[in-house]
Amino acid sequence: MSGKILQIENLTVSFDGFKALNALNFSMDAGELRVVIGPNGAGKTTFLDAITGKVQPTEGRVLFKGRSLRHLSEHQVARLGIGRKFQTPRVYLKLTVRENLELACNRHKNVFASLFGKSSASERRTVGGLLETIGLIPKADLPAELLSHGEKQRLEIGMLVAQSPDLLLVDEPVAGLTDEETENVGELLLALAESHSIVVIEHDMEFVRQIARKVTVLHEGSVLCEGSMEQVQNDPQVIEVYLGQRPSISSHQLKMLRIVTAMAWSDGSLAAEEIEVMLSRFSKLFATDVEEQEQLQQELRDYLAQDLDINELVAELETPEERELILQLSYDVIQASSRTADEPLINDEEAAAYQELVKLLNLPEEVVRRIEN
Ligand code: ADP
Ligand code: MG
Repeated sequence: MSGKILQIENLTVSFDGFKALNALNFSMDAGELRVVIGPNGAGKTTFLDAITGKVQPTEGRVLFKGRSLRHLSEHQVARLGIGRKFQTPRVYLKLTVRENLELACNRHKNVFASLFGKSSASERRTVGGLLETIGLIPKADLPAELLSHGEKQRLEIGMLVAQSPDLLLVDEPVAGLTDEETENVGELLLALAESHSIVVIEHDMEFVRQIARKVTVLHEGSVLCEGSMEQVQNDPQVIEVYLGQRPSISSHQLKMLRIVTAMAWSDGSLAAEEIEVMLSRFSKLFATDVEEQEQLQQELRDYLAQDLDINELVAELETPEERELILQLSYDVIQASSRTADEPLINDEEAAAYQELVKLLNLPEEVVRRIEN
């Protein structure tokens, strides 16, 4: 299948005048695995509700394979091939894992298989295949109530797949799971992504890193930013609204880090020594106690980016003190990589980038000389 599986145009959903979704635009190719993230209250669940017909838009429309879903009920939307997994598992606790899957296959069968005359053998294979996919063969004959929370999530994803939807919508599948189960669910979704289009709503950043190809960030009912995990997590706006729920680094501090990073990157490689100097200097600058510094170092590590426009970043520096600090840090960092090797103190690319930075910063000559001595 090619083309767009989902297009959302100018979608607004109001609750008593409050816009949970606000003129939202979104589009996704068939076969894509898309992760939608955003802080609490951003509109993620409402986004799914509007696709599945649970709420009707105040304005705008949702197109599934080019067809408008306006005025369709949840049931009708499901029959068109959109399956949704809710946040909390909804499995039959007294039935075994296998029985739960059989039921899900049969539900599908009642609608379709009577038309196509599916044999019960192929159905058994389907259940067997599903058990394997979700990694629950050893637990197939246990009642679902004996499963761990993560296993229940996987079972429910299996039940969803049993209904052969073209588009799977999955709301926070790893909330409350252990690290190991989180990884299992991630692997399951990656496996399913080979044959399905999937939207995953998620809050857990580690998990997003594990599965994400393309990420859409929602904020206040609209799309704030879209791109690879790398691009999204380095977007200052995203950091501010999303990670910024408990900020330990301001977007301004981040800009400073980025300039220095760009210097260190100017020769096309970021040496381990350069990273260490950068992280330790910055964490000491921006945090006071040791624990905070360690946390910050980890955060900074996550923010190191490659694609930076120094001109723009330098233009945003506010005071002469900041400009001086940036030059000092950059100087220290680019020297860090050559201290141990048998090379000139600073290599050509780094020297050129450094000279460029000196020009851009426009600092008094005596300041520059002081830094270099
Ligand atoms: P998220 O899933 O990103 O946390 P939601 O989509 O659940 O966000 O909610 C977005 C905003 O819309 C929140 O401020 C929420 O309080 C509000 N909201 C959601 N559903 C309703 C509703 N049925 N009635 C009124 N307000 C709602
Ligand atoms: Mg939600």
